[in-house]
Amino acid sequence: MAEHESLEFGKADFVLLDHVSMEEFMGNLKLRFEKGRIYSYIGEVVVSVNPYRAMNIYGRDTIEQYKGRELYERPPHLFAIADAAYKAMKRRSKDTCIVISGESGAGKTEASKYIMQYIAAITNPNQRAEVERVKNMLLKSNCVLEAFGNAKTNRNDNSSRFGKYMDINFDFKGDPIGGHINNYLLEKSRVIFQQEGERSFHSFYQLLKGAPESLLRSLHIQKDPKAYNYVKVGGQLKSGINDNADFKAVADAMKVIGFTGDEVQTVYKILATILHLGNLTFGVDGDVTLIENSKLVSILKDLLSTKEENVEKALLYRTVATGRDVIEKQHTVQEASYGRDALAKAMYERMFCWIVGRINDIIEVKNYDANVHGKNTVIGVLDIYGFEIFQNNSFEQFCINYCNEKLQQLFIQLVLKQEQEEYQREGIPWKHIDYFNNQIIVDLVEQQHKGIFSILDEACMNVGKVTDEVFLQGLNGKLAKHAHYTSRKLAPTDKTLEFDRDFRIRHYAGDVVYSVVGFIDKNKDTLFQDFKRLLYNSSNPVLKGMWPEGKLRITEVTKRPLTANLACKEPYYVRCIKPNDVKSPLLFEMQRCQHQVEYLGLLENVRVRRAGFAYRQTYPRFLQRYKMISKFTWPNHDLGSDKAAVKSLLKSCGFEHDVAYGNTKVFIRTPRTLFNLEEQRAEM
Ligand code: ATP
Ligand code: MG
Repeated sequence: MAEHESLEFGKADFVLLDHVSMEEFMGNLKLRFEKGRIYSYIGEVVVSVNPYRAMNIYGRDTIEQYKGRELYERPPHLFAIADAAYKAMKRRSKDTCIVISGESGAGKTEASKYIMQYIAAITNPNQRAEVERVKNMLLKSNCVLEAFGNAKTNRNDNSSRFGKYMDINFDFKGDPIGGHINNYLLEKSRVIFQQEGERSFHSFYQLLKGAPESLLRSLHIQKDPKAYNYVKVGGQLKSGINDNADFKAVADAMKVIGFTGDEVQTVYKILATILHLGNLTFGVDGDVTLIENSKLVSILKDLLSTKEENVEKALLYRTVATGRDVIEKQHTVQEASYGRDALAKAMYERMFCWIVGRINDIIEVKNYDANVHGKNTVIGVLDIYGFEIFQNNSFEQFCINYCNEKLQQLFIQLVLKQEQEEYQREGIPWKHIDYFNNQIIVDLVEQQHKGIFSILDEACMNVGKVTDEVFLQGLNGKLAKHAHYTSRKLAPTDKTLEFDRDFRIRHYAGDVVYSVVGFIDKNKDTLFQDFKRLLYNSSNPVLKGMWPEGKLRITEVTKRPLTANLACKEPYYVRCIKPNDVKSPLLFEMQRCQHQVEYLGLLENVRVRRAGFAYRQTYPRFLQRYKMISKFTWPNHDLGSDKAAVKSLLKSCGFEHDVAYGNTKVFIRTPRTLFNLEEQRAEM
């Protein structure tokens, strides 16, 4: 709690509001935003509002102000939470994680970068070369990941289209010695399609705008993005970003991280392959399907280091096993186009995962011997895209929103659990608090046999033609009575369910209508075996290496132990809010912000925090701050223990009724008491 900040900036900690109501919460948030105070606390949770302008609060001098300080000693800041996580890690050998959430454009990725910069700045005082190397790579890896995983959307010019969880490992001295990145749910459909006004991933435009002529020539690529179908769908070729300069920055970063020349070349070849694939068209001659622009096939064969006939065959035929025989079945034009798009998406996704894997190979901790060096501890930073409600919501949004349900569940459990544990540790009785528990929605999605994922997997495993409609019938059959599920079939008069294929889930953050179209396809995520063979048989070892056997399905990717990874760590939270939809530094749109506050559950968070005690502090620290108030404690006390001294101080002020004395901390119930103490202190 940052109690020292002047009240003209509003309350630095929402726990100190006079009344916990939405109105007061929003009033305070708005006031702080308008006064340029973009960070606030709810206890130890940072609430951040995107300022949409450069703030002079991230420099070296600010870093120095937060280094080694306690949370409440300085105005709210990301640096304070980063320092708290770092201290917990260093002093108590705790693994910690910083979970950053909020909707697209709210400032999650920027926050994660400031946190990493802070950690990099405060570590390695002895300038050990190896540690500097690791830090440099961790910071550089962001640049590479953003090039391949971010895109311009209508909400954010640099929107992360994947979830990222990064662990930083520290040695016993508290210096970074390595790291590991997990990536989740790359939005690969963007490779072939973008909404109006949006772009594909930055990497394509960087190549087109920034690559030297000689490279482009070797890839048979012309400089103009308009020449390539896949990257012009959104009709938005520019962004506020300098693609030209970024091409060089990314190339440099890849080099520094340790990608070989061949590896980087292969990445360019894959990008070029995808661009060419998008221009490939199919036609028919009699009953033969053929490639209309066969010139491209020759280019593709070069880029993929294979033979022309292999490329052609993979694009036009599918090998099917019928009983004992293996036959080659010709695609229809439609099937061939579907296959082409699937290949483009799969190649991009594989490449992305491979890039992450390569970075991991290089930054992972090597030769660490816990017996010699002591425990190796971790700080994790999670930057995963927030809740999404679009005009049309499909499987991608469904997976993302499910992920957010899981995170919310974790948040509820941990915040409550932490409070509860602290009270137990301190020997203070715990009172139960009511809150909305979203476990019911998590179950709706993931429960064995009757959850949506189970029903989907079951439908996908059926042989024969399973359609999205059949899957929807399955949902209706099994979930008709579920309070958080409905569909057009179940509620024919409901106006929000416009189409027969719509179903609706009542998420903790609000109602979302999903179209079932594409669920089966996207979950199966079939790539014809023929394509896998084509790439596996490439004579380019880097490309071949991206296509080992076996492939994870998308739901499996989602179900990977994201929350298991977090649940064992001490969490710190940053909740990001987007003040308006027009990227304005001046506008605080009340309704928009209130909606975010609601679905981030911030008011509930304040209630949980206040239900017990608004403020707590260790006895020595409390004395340090307030001992001048009482003659019993100023300048020194002779009461045996600090606890006894705090008791007599509070008693002499008449606050006995409002406090509890824990084993190591004093707990104060109402914020008023604290203000009063602060006032007395100021008058001294
Ligand atoms: P997405 O979910 O789409 O990835 P995000 O939450 O990661 O969104 P960011 O990319 O971090 O959003 O932020 C969007 C933009 O907002 C940034 O490009 C930057 O212009 C601005 N912004 C965010 N945070 C800050 C900040 N602390 N100071 C100045 N500008 C900021
Ligand atoms: Mg982001």
